[in-house]
Amino acid sequence: MPQDLAGIAARIAAVRTRIDDAARAAGRNPRGVRLLLATKTQEASTVLGAVASAAPLGPLPVLLGENRVQELVAKAPALADAVAQGLAEVHMIGHLQRNKVNQVLATATCVQSLDSLELAAALATRSERAGRVLDVMVQVNVSGEASKSGVVPRDAAAFACEVAASPGLRLTGFMTIGARSPDPAVVAAGFATLRQLRDDVVASGAPGTEQAIELSMGMTGDLEPAVREGATIVRVGTGVFGLRPAV
Ligand SMILES: *Cc1c(COP(=O)(O)O)cnc(C)c1O
Repeated sequence: MPQDLAGIAARIAAVRTRIDDAARAAGRNPRGVRLLLATKTQEASTVLGAVASAAPLGPLPVLLGENRVQELVAKAPALADAVAQGLAEVHMIGHLQRNKVNQVLATATCVQSLDSLELAAALATRSERAGRVLDVMVQVNVSGEASKSGVVPRDAAAFACEVAASPGLRLTGFMTIGARSPDPAVVAAGFATLRQLRDDVVASGAPGTEQAIELSMGMTGDLEPAVREGATIVRVGTGVFGLRPAV
């Protein structure tokens, strides 16, 4: 069913206000936090409407995130004009299998969910062969919850440095999904772990790490603590599009 675009526009504005308020309360410049629209299960027409609503919020392209390659590929033709005009940029934010790498390279600007050396090697090889450089972020499982993808924090710095040195890839930062905990201190500590990791990797001076500054963390339910801990990208689905149908 097509979504009510006026409602989406109002909710984007409300989410943006939440981000701005959290940034100011933390003494940060709200412009340092971008909103990524998590568009899983949303039709391409809804996504385009959301891009139009979000575009006036800033000069940069509207960030879109897809979880499944199948959806990414299905919506790509409808989004191609907006992407070509620099109005939108599509990131892969869900778990990615190596045999889907070509499809992702054809349609996404960034893979935020990089979590294995095998996947990194496959992306690097294909990307280099295509004569391009793919933006990637290392996904870290800060909470250790078994249901979540991502490298364990202990291995993340070495992994990130290896990725950063790969031709065909540009490491732009780190991504995580916050702990599913009722304790705000636990949630905040997970985000702080990602920030510390980013700081350590950038400070290492290892080749290719100088641009690894992004922290993609925080969703509808936990964007305030994420912004407080330094998020530069928050990924919001439900807060903009409403509840998703159960799959
Ligand atoms: C769905 C999803 C989001 C957005 O979650 P909401 O709670 O709906 O805001 C963010 N990141 C990832 C990786 C997701 O899969």
